[in-house]
Amino acid sequence: IGRVRLVMESALTARDRVGVQDFVLLENYNSEAAFIENLRRRFGEGLIYTYIGSVLVSVNPYKELEIYSKQQMERYRGVSFYEISPHIYALSDTAYRAMRTERKDQCIMISGESGAGKTEASKKILLYYAVTCPINAHMATLGDRLLQSNPVLEAFGNAKTFRNDNSSRFGKYMGVQFDFRGAPVGGHILNYLLEKSRVVHQNHGERNFHIFYQLLDGGDDNLLTTLALQRNPQNYSYLVKGNCPRLSSVSDKNNWKVVMKALSVIGFAEEEVQKLLSIIAGVLHLGNTQFGEGEEGETCITTETHATNLLGVDVSALGEALTHKKLTAKGEEMITPLNFEQAMSARDALAKAVYGRTFTWLVEKINQSVALQVGTTPYDCMLLIGLLDIYGFEVLQHNSFEQFCINYCNEKLQQLFIELTLRSEQEEYEAEGIAWETVQYFDNKIICDLIEEKHKGIISTLDEECLRPGETCDASFLEKLEDTLGGHPHFVTHKLANGKTRKAMGREEFRLLHYAGEVNYNVNGFLDKNNDLLNRNLKEVMCQSHNQIVSYCFRREEVMDQKRPEMAATQFKNNLMKLMEILGSKEPSYVRCLKPNDAKQPGRFDEVLIRHQVKYLGLMENLRVRRAGFAYRRRFEAFLQRYKPLCPETWPNWHGRLADGVSTLVNHLGYKAEEYKLGRSKIFIRFPKTLFTTEDALQA
Ligand code: ATP
Ligand code: MG
Repeated sequence: IGRVRLVMESALTARDRVGVQDFVLLENYNSEAAFIENLRRRFGEGLIYTYIGSVLVSVNPYKELEIYSKQQMERYRGVSFYEISPHIYALSDTAYRAMRTERKDQCIMISGESGAGKTEASKKILLYYAVTCPINAHMATLGDRLLQSNPVLEAFGNAKTFRNDNSSRFGKYMGVQFDFRGAPVGGHILNYLLEKSRVVHQNHGERNFHIFYQLLDGGDDNLLTTLALQRNPQNYSYLVKGNCPRLSSVSDKNNWKVVMKALSVIGFAEEEVQKLLSIIAGVLHLGNTQFGEGEEGETCITTETHATNLLGVDVSALGEALTHKKLTAKGEEMITPLNFEQAMSARDALAKAVYGRTFTWLVEKINQSVALQVGTTPYDCMLLIGLLDIYGFEVLQHNSFEQFCINYCNEKLQQLFIELTLRSEQEEYEAEGIAWETVQYFDNKIICDLIEEKHKGIISTLDEECLRPGETCDASFLEKLEDTLGGHPHFVTHKLANGKTRKAMGREEFRLLHYAGEVNYNVNGFLDKNNDLLNRNLKEVMCQSHNQIVSYCFRREEVMDQKRPEMAATQFKNNLMKLMEILGSKEPSYVRCLKPNDAKQPGRFDEVLIRHQVKYLGLMENLRVRRAGFAYRRRFEAFLQRYKPLCPETWPNWHGRLADGVSTLVNHLGYKAEEYKLGRSKIFIRFPKTLFTTEDALQA
């Protein structure tokens, strides 16, 4: 590369033209080095957006750029994708217009690793719609409510991690419904796999969910007294694990105000907010509950428990439930005392369950508030844009059950991406009457099957191991995997086929060869996390709570029901299936976010880091599929408009069909038959070189 290329864009300045603004125009499209160099050059100029066809690649600038103003929004309204420099607004606007003109639901899928800018991108898209779309008089507050759901969900679902000061610890899909005039009239949110373990444990330098610190820092004295809380987070065992009570980048106090305001805009009653905060405080107190030995050696609670009041449950009932386990065997109930460690883990399990379920309740409440009002607009006129902000492929030093689920999710999304991309290419070829050319690509179905197939897949095996009576443990799960999957081309353990040991791998690990690369998973904790069990007697106590949110979250039916609830991985798998169905029924757009450095600093472009992400996001493959057929396609009128000056013999006095005009022009330019094809309304050009030569002629 190095040549400055741009096509048809009159509104672009010289700075906009650094590198290519669409990777399909890279001459050496198979070269990763050229790809990264193009990104780097543009990033150096503050150009964080670049296309791969209709996919938007975005590099986190880690500083506020002057490109998100209302004027900028206006610039992008109704303007064709290619006429103006790449932007998240261009993508948003294109999806919106496609929804309206083609009358098809859209979805925008945002992916990338932690800290790459997914959530920021989704907020920018939402804001773009809130500002530029017409307003439905009945639902004037809807936009506000949708926007205000973000600070609330972030307070309860985001946390400071090593990689991101505001990391989303759950996956989110938000659907926005539009009426026939294109005004947003309703919305709904689906949430995925909240990282509940964070409630009771944080790694060094990380924090618990923001809301705990916001409450302690921002709540007024009265509130804190009511909740029996002290201001200093260091007093709470659930907040000291990461040894990181404060954030330098944001003020918990200010955010507290924002969140409280947002709750009221969304329509939470004051009473409800009180109950919600009681739960948050209750969880903190639960964490401080300590156990000791009673007179007869039994485990008992040794600390004062404000938790019971706050969670609305009976002191002695909770004390009993935290130190005993109730089992039903052959119709008989048995109560066994727990030892010290078991009581601690029962306490933590309760804290996680209470927090996790409260989060789900919160999402449900928000959904009620933003739901479409019946009767405001005829349902069959409704169209929808979905926004998916979900965890990207994750490879940590130690990968566990959570990474396994996250990476499985990314395999599914990749599968959908391939399916939809090929489908839309095929549809375009068909619509234009051009013969379909087979595209070679890696189909990752084999990996999805490896994970999710019934009876044989990893998830099935894990469930079976969790249910199998007798002594099962993480090690026996790994053995089972070896038995059923040994020899699978995408599954590896330390055992080699010849009976020898693979040195590079631990005995507690299995490796999956994901589409994006290899990941080793340590099986420690897989069974427990998949089981996600809460003792029945704890559930019984919670469902009798006076706090209506708590009793709503722990329903009586669940306690009465003897059937075992779905296990975590299966639940996640089923949720993903539903998500794939939702996404698959819509016209997709993609935003691929990249993180330029680990220091969260502006201006630094770490090539090694970027290279990893380019690989894990499958961007080169993405480009290859896009380039497999034709690099460039443009509508006849746009092509003629741009290049007719190259044929002054014919123009401006030419009148006739557009297709004939293009045909005359390319003949005049000497295009060879294998270089291009004419469809019904577009010209397809196979190589960028052809186009560059034409462009050079124009510039000369
Ligand atoms: P996670 O997976 O951890 O949730 P994420 O991909 O959602 O990560 P964000 O929270 O969106 O990452 O971004 C991380 C931080 O990067 C933001 O808090 C913000 O400081 C910065 N950032 C991201 N995108 C932009 C942008 N377009 N302009 C300015 N700053 C940005
Ligand atoms: Mg996020």
